[in-house]
Amino acid sequence: MAFGDNRLPLKSRSELELKLNCSSPASAVATFPQKANAYVLSLIQSAHDPIGRQVLPDPRELDDQTAGNDPLAEESQSPAPQIIHRYPNRVVFLVSDQCAVHCRFCMRKRRVTVGGEVGAHLIEQGLHYIRSQSQINEVVLSGGDPLMLDDGRLTGVLQALRSIPHVRLLRIHTRIPSMLPQRVTQALAQRLAAFRPIYVNIHFNHPAELTPQARHACGLLADAGIPLGSQTVLLKGINDEPGTLIELFETLLELRVRPYYLHQLDRVPGTAHFRVALDNALALLAKLRGQLSGLAIPHFMVDLPGGGGKVALTPQAILKKEENHWLIRNWEGHIFQYPFG
Ligand SMILES: *Cc1c(COP(=O)(O)O)cnc(C)c1O
Ligand code: SF4
Repeated sequence: MAFGDNRLPLKSRSELELKLNCSSPASAVATFPQKANAYVLSLIQSAHDPIGRQVLPDPRELDDQTAGNDPLAEESQSPAPQIIHRYPNRVVFLVSDQCAVHCRFCMRKRRVTVGGEVGAHLIEQGLHYIRSQSQINEVVLSGGDPLMLDDGRLTGVLQALRSIPHVRLLRIHTRIPSMLPQRVTQALAQRLAAFRPIYVNIHFNHPAELTPQARHACGLLADAGIPLGSQTVLLKGINDEPGTLIELFETLLELRVRPYYLHQLDRVPGTAHFRVALDNALALLAKLRGQLSGLAIPHFMVDLPGGGGKVALTPQAILKKEENHWLIRNWEGHIFQYPFG
């Protein structure tokens, strides 16, 4: 059984509409259903605040008719129903198609919208594929959200993966600590930690998500000895100011969550109003270096269309390559000569 159905009950949905003085744009919801929970709704003061924008439907979603709901061609790199195999050594294993909330900008809407439970036979097919490919040394559990599985199913999958000799590393990608932190208990943290080496990457987009409950959830995982990373989606009007990102990354580092990736938003329909142009993104990034510990600066990643994979982009540092030296720009914009050889 999946962990709870925390879809918003109708009664509180209308309460929220009253609170926000708006009604859900019906056709945006028809395209991608709204899903939230009591905890997340309690954090939303207005439809336009950083969490409201991420989970409440917006009529602008209907303006973006970008073709294709699978821009990274994940389905064509899928040798088994729940597996994405793009890089030789590691696979993504979609063990759940459900999430605590629906993020309006989700890159896997095509799966999350359906949101059914992933049947045991599909998990078994995924495990079978991983067993058959000895070059796979790392499995990234994703979805949907792997932590939507109950403890029994989740540990069942982890146990099966641990028993495959060539699988050396386990990784979980989750948004639960930010959107349903109550799901992270000490018992869960200890169960996960038993599968070490296991890494957990948490999706956090804004400092407003770092509530006492979310901090507690991160603390439980870190105290259990699980190395934590974060993934952030760059979102216009939500976190595309240097101050917001600095506050987010600094606080994450304090919470023992190492900022890992800042993602350029993938091109799925209904998300254009969230997208930051690449040159603005790089200008933003250039402002972080002088103000943040290197430990708090994630890589800025672009996921190439058609399954080309992720590439880290950095602000232009090499200005010119001369015969014996390069001209390199530092974090303040000053230019230095650096010997070539
Ligand atoms: C992002 C991703 C991974 C993991 O990539 P890392 O750079 O190791 O975090 C693996 N497979 C696919 C298909 C991915 O999209
Ligand atoms: S938590 Fe991740 S997979 Fe789930 S809706 Fe949000 S972005 Fe999509």
